[in-house]
Amino acid sequence: MAAEITVDRDRCMGSGQCTFYAPNTFDLDDSDIAVVTDPHGDSDEKIKMAITVCPTRSIERVAPE
Ligand code: SF4
Repeated sequence: MAAEITVDRDRCMGSGQCTFYAPNTFDLDDSDIAVVTDPHGDSDEKIKMAITVCPTRSIERVAPE
């Protein structure tokens, strides 16, 4: 099973970096808070970059057990 990606909506400040680095995985909703549109939308490298650049550390990738 693939890893799951979550966004902590209470921490997200809507900076949009994740949508820039992994546009097929993240999007901003009507409240300008990030949502995961497709956990496999981008390459591993792009998703890792999005996680790294998030200024509020709101994105987590949970590996399957
Ligand atoms: S990079 Fe982080 S703070 Fe910015 S929109 Fe994405 S999840 Fe939210």
